Amino acid sequence: MTVPEMFGCKVFDDRQMRARLSAKVYASLKETIDNGKKLDLSVANSVAQAMCAWAVENGATHFTHWFQPMTGITAEKHDGFISPAPNGGVIMEFSGKELIQGEPDASSFPSGGLRATFEARGYTAWDPTSYAFIKENTLCIPTAFCSYGGEALDKKTPLLRSMEALNTQAMRILRLFGNKDVKRVITSVGPEQEYFLVDREMYLKRKDLVYTGRTLFGAMPPKGQELDDHYFGAIKPRVQAYMEDLNEELWKLGILAKTEHNEVAPAQHELAPIYTTTNVATDHNQLTMEIMKKVARKHGLACLLHEKPFAGVNGSGKHNNWSMATNTGVNLLSPGDTPYENAQFLLFLAAVIQAVDDYQDLLRMSVATAGNDHRLGANEAPPAVISMFLGDELNAVLEAIENDTPYAGVEKMRIRLGADVLPRFNRDTTDRNRTSPFAFTGNKFEFRMVGSSNSIACANVMINASVAESLRQFSDALESAEDFDKCLHELIRDTVKAHRRIIFNGNGYDDAWIEEATCERGLLNLRTTPDALRPLLEEKNIHMLTSHKVYTESELRSRYEIQLENYVRTVRIEALTMVDMARKDILPAVVGYCEKLLCSIERKKAVGGAVSCGYETRTAGRLSTLADRIDEAVSVLENTVKTLDSLGDYAAEGDYTRDEVLPKMAELRAFCDEAETLTSAEYWPFPTYGDLLFGV
Ligand code: ADP
Ligand code: MG
Repeated sequence: MTVPEMFGCKVFDDRQMRARLSAKVYASLKETIDNGKKLDLSVANSVAQAMCAWAVENGATHFTHWFQPMTGITAEKHDGFISPAPNGGVIMEFSGKELIQGEPDASSFPSGGLRATFEARGYTAWDPTSYAFIKENTLCIPTAFCSYGGEALDKKTPLLRSMEALNTQAMRILRLFGNKDVKRVITSVGPEQEYFLVDREMYLKRKDLVYTGRTLFGAMPPKGQELDDHYFGAIKPRVQAYMEDLNEELWKLGILAKTEHNEVAPAQHELAPIYTTTNVATDHNQLTMEIMKKVARKHGLACLLHEKPFAGVNGSGKHNNWSMATNTGVNLLSPGDTPYENAQFLLFLAAVIQAVDDYQDLLRMSVATAGNDHRLGANEAPPAVISMFLGDELNAVLEAIENDTPYAGVEKMRIRLGADVLPRFNRDTTDRNRTSPFAFTGNKFEFRMVGSSNSIACANVMINASVAESLRQFSDALESAEDFDKCLHELIRDTVKAHRRIIFNGNGYDDAWIEEATCERGLLNLRTTPDALRPLLEEKNIHMLTSHKVYTESELRSRYEIQLENYVRTVRIEALTMVDMARKDILPAVVGYCEKLLCSIERKKAVGGAVSCGYETRTAGRLSTLADRIDEAVSVLENTVKTLDSLGDYAAEGDYTRDEVLPKMAELRAFCDEAETLTSAEYWPFPTYGDLLFGV
């Protein structure tokens, strides 16, 4: 199969719809997809029939409503197409009703108290804007997942609502600029996915990787990433084979995987797709992560999506490239060719600047997980402080507007920001800064704080909603302005002035920046998940998110609980895994090697004479001490978890996890890692960092 033949062969995409639906049904479905028109049941029935026929032809026997509950991964429950026929045989059947709505048992999905167990039912509703696809033998229908009361229990529902909010407000702006042909404004995203590949045999020997996705122990190998010889380096044959296979699987699902390369850390790689509509990009990213893991297994590899699989080695993130575009294909974050387009561009830019400053807390919150806490602020990761990078050129333009001074020698910038046409900002001049959490890269913003295992939904909900809020304020002002041009100019100027503090073009990894950001500029530095989640309950945020109908207040409260609970549970599993590994694997290994050393001493003594036992004595001595320390630290950690379990209040559990459990884990780890450096490789019970990082 050639790539064009292969591409999307497992997707019921526009090509299939056109070919298999009557012109009338196709037109009606298209109205629903493009303009959100309500779909009637007769159309749904025809679509379901065509979908079923296509799926069966392509080997599917089952269908599922595919959704994204708050677990962060996707869920599916398979039902057969099979239905008895009067002649004793079967027919393959699928109705419009089954396509539109499903009723999975919702009781086992996290709801944060939204849904009492006695009304465990939830329902899934078809999202026709994301194409159905076949995975294994199952037709998967992308759906939103809600409670019977209509409250969102998933990640897709708020995302769709936030896209709608942004569309509504952005359209107001476009109308003010006299734009009549645009029907919708769509947000687009291209998430670049980082990951590690390790040998599967080795992976299976480490309970920490299997249970928690990251190493909880491990001394640094003599070689790490210090030579920078991995980044963009030649790809090893086994990894190359994996990437080729992965690309094919993704292409079949219509996912535009485009670029792949080695990342900075050994064994670390990156995959970048071509951008698409936010909700489709979100679905695709979930699928990409799933398929990355599956294909790895086939190649005797394990794909690690954790944000920090190895201490002391770069972590993995997801660069969320975000922009807004009209349905006519105009990127609103791209400077235009005429003064009017430029003014429009600057207004949208100002909206993003204001949004990121006003809602830095929500952006930070949107990426808060136990895993990402290890990464933000560490090597090569953006700091936990949010700031924006605009690049020198754009910065100069904004400064000129702010001070009403001429820009780049051209005559004075006038109202309508008109006289001079803005330069195109290409990547060369804008993407120099890799340390900024929110960087302008020519015609889009790159939000770099998203964790590699996170769904990108939440980050995009918060970006869309905050920008919608800026645009709402701008539209209100402009719609009631007596002099549009004057108001526009002042709006851009005043916004840039008011939000200067969020713009930072220097090195975000510098300690001096954190100091300046927090002390002088008053920017937030929310370093841990419990701190980062709290803003979700602040009045200003509840008000903004509910006023744009992105969340209800009870949905927000439930999400706070779910995410905090997730943090506590994740760390709790890690702590218990450490207890298990230290007791059952590490202590026996250390004691075993001590025994060996003591035997050696005995034997040498038996020989008599002046035989030296210095190494054995010193090492056995230190290892014995370490064994005692490890044993104590294990008990302490175990008791800490017991106390955690007795607290019974989310907020208290979160704080206790951060302040007590994690530090106790670090203490235990330090003793174990030292023991590793003293124990014979033959005795060490699992593959080391060196084995894992350089073993493929
Ligand atoms: P750059 O080299 O400027 O970083 P790339 O072409 O490497 O840009 O793209 C990086 C990621 O950004 C890709 O996933 C790409 O699809 C995505 N991207 C490019 N343009 C946009 C856009 N307008 N909106 C969203 N994502 C985009
Ligand atoms: Mg990038």
